[in-house]
Amino acid sequence: MNEYKLKGDFILKTTDKNDPNLDKCLGLDKLTANLFYVCDKCKKIYLFRSNAAKCCTINYICERCGFDGSKTNPPTELINNKYCINCIDIVRKENAVKIKYDGQPLFYDDNYYLNEDDLLENLLNKMYTYDLMDLDPFFWGCKEDKWEGIDLYSCLEKELSEHDEDIYNSIVDLDALEKFLADWNKKQKIVSYYPDYKTIIDISEYIHQYLIN
Ligand SMILES: [Zn+2]
Ligand SMILES: [Zn+2]
Repeated sequence: MNEYKLKGDFILKTTDKNDPNLDKCLGLDKLTANLFYVCDKCKKIYLFRSNAAKCCTINYICERCGFDGSKTNPPTELINNKYCINCIDIVRKENAVKIKYDGQPLFYDDNYYLNEDDLLENLLNKMYTYDLMDLDPFFWGCKEDKWEGIDLYSCLEKELSEHDEDIYNSIVDLDALEKFLADWNKKQKIVSYYPDYKTIIDISEYIHQYLIN
């Protein structure tokens, strides 16, 4: 990628955090130097450095089915720069570790099933609304993201942003607050889940045991 100066007095704005000229401006989305960027390979011209840098590194051909995302308007970017939307789950399934169902949180079709009751209720609902045989019995595993609690120092930073930097020394009994918050944080039980595409859980045995027999 090459950098060029525009002739004349063009004034460009940037929304690019990585723009090397950002420090010469007042901040993001402020005026920037009159530069533009050209992709070495295809010679396309970009106003933003990050777009020029990623030009020609984007793979538009699905590695599994050969779908060409550059032919759609707008171009379709591939998931992980490799697979189209139709192939990604098939590839993930091939590569995932298969685990037996043991009541753990599951992810399927945009829904989470956090425990057995949750799963059973939803499977029964599906039975009434669809043909259960339609159901793919391979569900994704989940990863946990536990809330660590309130971060005292980022709160204080916000609260005291209008004051002098050495104001921290003037806070009375910060130790007590720190200790209280550390204990309080430990009691918190907030957990969020997100799909773990590296594990796949076969629930077909579970369906047979609880729903079909
Ligand atoms: Zn290019
Ligand atoms: Zn594909």
